Amino acid sequence: MKKTFVTKAQLEQLCQSFPTPFHLYDEKGIRENARRVNAAFAWNPGFREFFAVKATPNPQLLKLLREEGCGVDCSSLTELMMSQRCGFSGGEIMFSSNDTPAEEFALAGQLGATINLDDISHIDFLQRTIGRIPKKISCRFNPGGTFTLGESKEGFQVMDNPGQAKYGLTRPQMTEAFKRLRELGAEEFGIHAFLASNTISNEYYPALAAILFRTAVELKNETGAHITFINLSGGVGIPYRPEQPANDIAVIGEGVRKAFEEILVPAGMGDVSLCTELGRFMLAPYGHLVTRVLHQKHTHKEYIGVDACAANLMRPAIYGAYHHITVMGKEDAPCDHMYDVTGSLCENSDKFAIDRMLPEIETGDLLVIHDTGAHGHSMGYQYNGRLRSAEVLLQEDGTARLIRRAETPEDYFATCIWD
Ligand SMILES: *Cc1c(COP(=O)(O)O)cnc(C)c1O
Repeated sequence: MKKTFVTKAQLEQLCQSFPTPFHLYDEKGIRENARRVNAAFAWNPGFREFFAVKATPNPQLLKLLREEGCGVDCSSLTELMMSQRCGFSGGEIMFSSNDTPAEEFALAGQLGATINLDDISHIDFLQRTIGRIPKKISCRFNPGGTFTLGESKEGFQVMDNPGQAKYGLTRPQMTEAFKRLRELGAEEFGIHAFLASNTISNEYYPALAAILFRTAVELKNETGAHITFINLSGGVGIPYRPEQPANDIAVIGEGVRKAFEEILVPAGMGDVSLCTELGRFMLAPYGHLVTRVLHQKHTHKEYIGVDACAANLMRPAIYGAYHHITVMGKEDAPCDHMYDVTGSLCENSDKFAIDRMLPEIETGDLLVIHDTGAHGHSMGYQYNGRLRSAEVLLQEDGTARLIRRAETPEDYFATCIWD
């Protein structure tokens, strides 16, 4: 059973200061999880997690993660600017973008960020844009084909299609790129790959690591490049459904260590630093979208209308993603009613749940939509003039603090030209 990190009484109290809907984040959960991630890779002296800013671009959360030793992974100009304003600099910033505009490489270069190139043509583009090739540089590898991992009763546990993904360089291009970068003065090389998203498997990172470690040994032999870091990127998932098992980051860290000792150490590459760019795994479980039931509608189906909508959480509408829902105060009541839980957009996909078995719901009930701490608020939009909600941090001492105000109509109108 999925549990909320707040009680109904606590939430009702919070709702007096912060009108629903809002995203609530759990500082204690975030810090403890970040410490588990760091502990799992503590065997690698150069390890650093670069939080994928796009997952939850909130300055207060970025600063909190910085206190836990994390850097940031940016992929756009505004993410770089936000990270700079939060105090991140130089080696604390990874820049993993694609289809990159010149001004973004320029700022990444200025900040001394570690640039992760998405294409071989970006070598010359970067050289032209910033007038040099940074001494430390990385290339994103895409092995193509399909990527599968282990079989379970339901079929493949992890399956993705790198061959259909727009990202990264092919294997022959990696060799060519490293040679060219060496000619242009690069001295420290990194390799990055992102092969599967939201994996529920302790095997994903170790399997990816083995691929990257073998590739690193080959590239070193082929090009003489000094490879100093390997970036496992994001993709470690979380159990959105209550029946799914959670990943164990300690087991994952040990699996990566085994591959490291089997492949890199014998090749004389035991000094390679590892990086991760986790987004979802760092924050998703530590966010709740808090919303209140406005209406009930009995037509061809039973509808529960809430005051949040897809503008606050888009994943169900665009991916059909499952997000667990708790009816506050009815945690132990039988789930004997079937509902569609909807928002107010003029889009039939604006449903947080379809045919979901829940306890009997009354107008005014508070609902928690789980696992919205990453790719939640950040994917919000303003369709229908529905505005993005506030973000609130539940602090370790039990008090709550507003960390982003809700948008107002004035914000929405600010870009309009009226006359
Ligand atoms: C989105 C993204 C991540 C984070 O992915 P999660 O699934 O949230 O862990 C990391 N690196 C890159 C380059 C990304 O685009």
